[in-house]
Amino acid sequence: MNTPRMVATALAIGLFSLSSSAAVQTEELPKYVNIAAKTKEQRTLIANAGVSIEAIRSDGIWGFARPNALARVKKAGFKVLSTHSFETGRGGHQGGGMSAKDFPSEDSRFHNYNELITELDTLAGKHSDIAKVEQLGKTTEGRKILALHINTTPIELQSGQSTKPGAVFIGNHHAREHLSIEIPLMLAQHLLAKRNDPAIQKLLETRDIWILPMLNPDGSEYDIATGDYQMWRKNRAKNHDGTYGVDLNRNYSYFWNHGGASNDPSDETYMGTKPFSENETQAVKAFVEAHKNFKILLSFHTFSELILYPWGHTYDKINKPRDLQVYETMAKQMSKWNGYTPQQSSDLYIASGDTTDWTYGQQGIFSFTFELSPRSMWFGGGFYPGEGVIDKVFNDNLKPCLYMIDLADDPYRVLAKPLMSYGSSYQAPEKFISKIQNDGQNNGLFADVLFEKPAKF
Ligand SMILES: [Zn+2]
Repeated sequence: MNTPRMVATALAIGLFSLSSSAAVQTEELPKYVNIAAKTKEQRTLIANAGVSIEAIRSDGIWGFARPNALARVKKAGFKVLSTHSFETGRGGHQGGGMSAKDFPSEDSRFHNYNELITELDTLAGKHSDIAKVEQLGKTTEGRKILALHINTTPIELQSGQSTKPGAVFIGNHHAREHLSIEIPLMLAQHLLAKRNDPAIQKLLETRDIWILPMLNPDGSEYDIATGDYQMWRKNRAKNHDGTYGVDLNRNYSYFWNHGGASNDPSDETYMGTKPFSENETQAVKAFVEAHKNFKILLSFHTFSELILYPWGHTYDKINKPRDLQVYETMAKQMSKWNGYTPQQSSDLYIASGDTTDWTYGQQGIFSFTFELSPRSMWFGGGFYPGEGVIDKVFNDNLKPCLYMIDLADDPYRVLAKPLMSYGSSYQAPEKFISKIQNDGQNNGLFADVLFEKPAKF
C-alpha cells in the first residue's frame, strides 16, 4: 500500500535529486513535515508553533518548518510522522534548465520584477487616458511597490482619488506564490484590452479599480535568484537574530498576535516585531486608509483552490448577520465559476494578522482571499505548477473578479436580486484539465494523497 510517508520518501529519494547544484545557500532551508492532527484546534496549535501548514488531511497536516518550530511541535506532544528535504514540497518541479536570477526557461512566462514593471508601464502607456502606474512604497531592498490605477475620469486618474466605488486586487504577499502575481496582472490586461466591450466598459466607467500584482518583490526575486526555486515565503527584511523575513500575511494589526502566527523570527509564519512593522504592509495600510471609496478587496495566494473570508483570527463567525450573508452568498456564487471551496478562513486553522481581517474588521471593506490552483502539493505542483496552468487559472477566476468589481457599489445588493452576467467570451476551464493531469509527475503513483483537504497559505 501507498502510505503518504512512503510516497513522500519515494519522492525525496527518487525524483528530486536533479536540482540544487547551482544553488547558493545562505540559510538553512525549511523541512517539509507531516504531523499528526485531526481537528482545527490541533492544526491551530501546530500553526502557533511556527509551521506553515500547506496541506490538510483528515489525519494530519503537511507543511514547512524550520528546526525551532519542529522542536516546539514535538514539545507540545504532536507526533511528527515524517520529515523530508524541502525539495519534496516542490510537488514535482525539477528545476532543470534554470538560469540564475530568473525563472527556469519552462516557466519563463511568469513575470520577474523587472518584467512586471515593464508590463505595467506598457499597459499604462498604451491606455494612458484611463490607466496610470502609482508607486505605493518601497521595500527594504529598495524595490518599488507598484499599483495600476484604472479610472475613466481624467481628474480622478490624475489625482488618484475617486468618488466611484473602489475595488482592489493584491497579489504576492507570499514570495513563492508566483501565480498570485500573474492573475491580477492578467486581470489588468483583460480590462484594458476589452475596454470597449459593453460589459467591461460599463464596469470601467462606474468603478475605481486598483491592481497591485507584486507586493513582495524582494521575496519574489529572492525565490528565483540563486538558480533554483528557494521555496521562500516571507519578505527579506533582516531580523534582529540574523534571520530574514516577516510573514506579510501575519503582520496586519487587526488582532495581530492572536494565534496561528509565530514570534520566532526564523519561522515561516513570523509575525514581525509589531503590527505593520514592514514596508510592504505599511504601503498597503497607507494606500487603503487614503482611499475611503474602497468597498471590495481580493488578496490572491496559492494554492489549494479556496475562497476564504473573515475571520481568520477566531473561530467565531462574523457577528453582523447581513455581512455574513453577503460573504456566504458571494463566496458560493464565485465557487460556481472557479470550482473552489468557499469557507471561513479559520475553519482550517487560526491565522491572525492577515490582510482580510484588517481590511474588513478595521476598514469595513468586503474582503476575500483566494487560494488559487493547484488543489494540492502532490497534484499539480504546489507552489510551482508550471506556466501551463496560467491561462486556465485566469479563466477560472475572471468572472469572480468582474463580479467583485460589479458589486463594489453595494455588496449588499447580492442579497436582493440576481446580478448581471459577465458575457460568454471566456474559454471553458475544462479544456485545460487534461493537460494538467497529463503534465503531472505523479502518473497515478500518489493516488492516496490526491484527496487531501486543501489548506491556506
Ligand atoms: Zn500565501
